[in-house]
Amino acid sequence: MIAENLQKIKQEIRESCALVSRSPEEVKLVAVTKSVGSEEAAELVDLGVYDLAENRVDKLLEKKAALGDNANIKWHLIGNLQRRKVKNIINEIDYFHALENEKLAAEINKRAEKVVKCFIEINISGEESKYGIKAENLVEFVALLANYEKIEVVGLMTMAPLESSEIEVREIFSKLKKLQEKIEQQEIPYAPCHELSMGMSQDFQIAIESGTTFVRIGTALFRKD
Ligand SMILES: *Cc1c(COP(=O)(O)O)cnc(C)c1O
Repeated sequence: MIAENLQKIKQEIRESCALVSRSPEEVKLVAVTKSVGSEEAAELVDLGVYDLAENRVDKLLEKKAALGDNANIKWHLIGNLQRRKVKNIINEIDYFHALENEKLAAEINKRAEKVVKCFIEINISGEESKYGIKAENLVEFVALLANYEKIEVVGLMTMAPLESSEIEVREIFSKLKKLQEKIEQQEIPYAPCHELSMGMSQDFQIAIESGTTFVRIGTALFRKD
């Protein structure tokens, strides 16, 4: 089932890319394995999917231990990270998708043994309940990251609220794209900001049309219908 789902998703990625004349090579499929066990994660690796994501620290460490040493695998932490857990995880991952406040940046800087590739999470919709910094605070936030030499801002990340209409999702994703370009144009050495992490099972096609370079897909890989 996973193999078939994967083929279908890859086909959909190609089709979305074709719609906007992008190369499928520009879009990295990050498999979100939070709803499955290590066997399914291992199956994905066998199928050539080497970017694996978890939203919880303990779950990521568990899967990493189960999958063993495999230099091909890139581990992505996509969920909100509590400061007290930074020391357990920060040297175990390749990408962190949810940088969203200075205290977290300071803790990462203190604990990381090498530079960590981070996405800044943006709360585009401005919903109070959501994680992420507000768009209007981004430039200031990027500027203060100059103090933390272990942090590299590779891009921006967002999630569209579940209940959004297609039009709203497009609006959110195109706003994130504009913000990414704005930071990229500043040519800040520690914030190249070439990447975008947006799009999940239900909206990755829209994200690709909107210019994303990383899609984070879980449910669609593991569904059994
Ligand atoms: C769970 C999760 C995903 C994947 O969502 P699906 O709808 O299962 O594809 C992507 N990003 C984050 C941050 C998540 O927590």
